[in-house]
Amino acid sequence: MPDALRAAGNAGAAGAFDDHHRPRADQVADCVHCGFCLTTCPTYVLWGEEMDSPRGRIHLIAQGLEGEPLSTSMVTHVDRCLGCMACVTACPSGVRYDQLIEDTRAQVERRHPRGARDRALRAAIFALFPYPRRLRLLRGPLWAYQRSGLQALIGRTQLLERLAPTLATLNALAPRLRGVPRPPRRVAAHGDRRAVVGMLTGCVQSAFFPDVNAATVRILAAEGCDVLIPPGQGCCGALSVHNGRRAEAERFARRLIDTFERSGMDYFVVNAAGCGSSLKEYGALLADDPAYATRAATFAAKVRDLAELLIEIGPVAERHPLPVTVAYHDACHLGHAQGIRAQPRTLLRGVPGLELREIADPEICCGSAGVWNVLNPEPAAALGDRKAAAVLATGASLLVTANPGCLMQVAAAVRRQGGEIALAHTAQVLDASIRGLGPAALTDR
Ligand code: SF4
Ligand code: SF4
Repeated sequence: MPDALRAAGNAGAAGAFDDHHRPRADQVADCVHCGFCLTTCPTYVLWGEEMDSPRGRIHLIAQGLEGEPLSTSMVTHVDRCLGCMACVTACPSGVRYDQLIEDTRAQVERRHPRGARDRALRAAIFALFPYPRRLRLLRGPLWAYQRSGLQALIGRTQLLERLAPTLATLNALAPRLRGVPRPPRRVAAHGDRRAVVGMLTGCVQSAFFPDVNAATVRILAAEGCDVLIPPGQGCCGALSVHNGRRAEAERFARRLIDTFERSGMDYFVVNAAGCGSSLKEYGALLADDPAYATRAATFAAKVRDLAELLIEIGPVAERHPLPVTVAYHDACHLGHAQGIRAQPRTLLRGVPGLELREIADPEICCGSAGVWNVLNPEPAAALGDRKAAAVLATGASLLVTANPGCLMQVAAAVRRQGGEIALAHTAQVLDASIRGLGPAALTDR
């Protein structure tokens, strides 16, 4: 480690960062500047700017540790990072960029005064998205808006793109709503019970994709799991922690632990990639809290992505033929952040008649990245268009992924390109196969 960086790492609140979880100088020093991460970084791919690459951002963090102030320019390059973690996968030196950017973002949120427009937009986002009840209140107006034809009309005029790109992005992302009854508090395993699982219903997932949650419950029960689904479980904190709002994320985490820890669950199952990656980090998130540190680590050890759990316990429910061509998209927080790539593919290949096709450049993010696409509408659309073109080039009739954000982002980009492909969560494909539904149940929705 360079002397200046070592000294900076031990220093007090000098430079860009204060002493509360400042980015770690030893993690910065792990970067040997080889550049292997550059071509997998979506912002470097878009702009070719060193300071919008992982290596460039690590250099800026090093400068901050060495005494440079938290400048607007530094914050801009940090803000432009999608947090997709493709650089973590690509890095041969094991640089923990995930931890570096999380610590840096928390410092930015605490110490950098944002402009009025940015503050207002972020306040609106974080007053809405982590609150499933508030999101569910939007379902009625959104349903009426879609049925009236206004959404399609406004999308066609391109007027919003010119006047208000953020609103245009929200308009394009809004998924087609489906009515599904709320799940009961407990669903019993079919046949012999193999495990008891708590299930996260999520925020966006429960408000806009209740059919994905319903499919997840059915699969788990069919595979011999008792499923616990307490209402009012709230947000897991993923959106907050990924955007530097650490104290808010800690509050959400404590509440979720309180809700589930005495439930008797063997596992805690998650069907949204971004949530799963954060839940697995609860031990680190609450490490400073003596009342929760051990409980958080115990909770985190039980967290499994749905595909991960099904492979771990071994599928037993009969799969019926489902003749459909599927392009599988690795959500960044499933592939890069959790290393879960083989499990969903193994499950999909286990469906008789299903043909799996790979998408070119799978490591590059689709541009969704939590609320990054709302905060950065133009580059998010450019990344979405790249991904949609790669998806359509597979010729598949169904795009499958495991994150609601990716589903909305790619669907919007496909529509923009005038293409056609049905979209489904991995859970919906497995559910259709287990129930013996035909491919039309997925492609004609
Ligand atoms: S997390 Fe993604 S966007 Fe951010 S530096 Fe790494 S590869 Fe680039
Ligand atoms: S691949 Fe790793 S070591 Fe190489 S420049 Fe990127 S972050 Fe640094």
